[in-house]
Amino acid sequence: MQNPDGKKDIRHKVICVFCGSSHGADPAFTDAARRLGRLIGESGHSLVFGGGNIGLMGETARAARDAGANVTGILPAFLRHLEPPLKSADELVVVPELFERKARMIALADAFVILPGGMGTMDEFFEVVTAAQLGRHEKPVVLVNIAGYFDPLEALLRHLVKNGFAQAEIFTLYRMVATVDEAIEALGALKPA
Ligand code: AMP
Repeated sequence: MQNPDGKKDIRHKVICVFCGSSHGADPAFTDAARRLGRLIGESGHSLVFGGGNIGLMGETARAARDAGANVTGILPAFLRHLEPPLKSADELVVVPELFERKARMIALADAFVILPGGMGTMDEFFEVVTAAQLGRHEKPVVLVNIAGYFDPLEALLRHLVKNGFAQAEIFTLYRMVATVDEAIEALGALKPA
């Protein structure tokens, strides 16, 4: 985003949101997705997401669009039937495969916010933290622990450390917050991983 004087405003970020292609069992997940989208738009940020008009990803993207955010969806061609694209997105980029979607989302993002989701969301979380661990990017990663959804994930990470398969430094690669408001606040203050 440009200021009137033409300089890039670094407070305005491209936020990549990873989240479920379903709504999940708790209505709090949907509320969080809608609020995250709204806050992204109201804060002047842009959204990069998986492109689909379904589940929490669709909720986030529609709310972001309604709040004035620039929205870019990245969609693998073969998923167009399973995850129909959000037609109101400013840009829809169609890529051949899932790994290209992840790579494109990671390249475009200034920061990652992760809401509850399923296997795809977990894959995306591990992709960004393992890439950060290996020094492939230095972008902040924020997990939003709605209704304690990510407590078992954090327990799994502690298990890895306890058993000598990861160092305690992995907990510096991401930040866990309880609400989407805190996630947006954290992005302003976060140092890169
Ligand atoms: P889910 O959390 O399983 O609902 O999936 C969230 C998003 O991740 C959906 O758009 C899925 O298509 C996507 N996804 C699922 N598996 C993968 C994968 N292996 N790599 C990248 N994205 C995936």
